[in-house]
Amino acid sequence: MAEVFLGLGANTGDPRANLRRALQLLAPAGDIVAVSSLWTTEPVGYLEQDWFLNAAAHLRTTHTPLQLLALLQEIEHALGRQRTIPNGPRTIDLDILLWDDAVIASPPLTVPHPRMHERLFVMEPLCELAPDTIVPLLGLTVARLRDSLAGSMRIELAARAPW
Ligand code: ADP
Ligand code: MG
Repeated sequence: MAEVFLGLGANTGDPRANLRRALQLLAPAGDIVAVSSLWTTEPVGYLEQDWFLNAAAHLRTTHTPLQLLALLQEIEHALGRQRTIPNGPRTIDLDILLWDDAVIASPPLTVPHPRMHERLFVMEPLCELAPDTIVPLLGLTVARLRDSLAGSMRIELAARAPW
């Protein structure tokens, strides 16, 4: 069993429904132990798009990392994600943030997610679930990394779990 934290984001169609559906489709991988609040966040990089809904989830899984990545990509595909503009609109984005205290650097997978600590829209929901977890390689807690991003972008609480 591995303890895994996932980042979820969506900003097209019905974003909340897409996030809910993605969580349901994760069932074959194991148990969703906890889900964060839902956060409304301003787009980063490509600005001509709607705000995102973001959340984090704690998954307890028997999958291997590559099996889980394949499932995430199947779910993204099933929900109709098109890969067009980098950082552009998406019906769903599913990222593996943390995998126990593992460091994985084997394309196509990098864990911890290489940009998570730069993104308040990832660290804010993750901080609700795992504030004291130390992020491998960085050697700092999730809460500490989240605090260092405070004020770096606009982010608003949209709904407390369960949403
Ligand atoms: P982003 O999530 O940074 O907006 P994408 O979702 O388009 O970008 O990136 C998808 C690619 O990132 C996938 O093809 C996958 O192989 C790769 N990738 C590397 N590490 C991870 C990870 N930890 N979680 C999810 N995808 C990852
Ligand atoms: Mg992604």
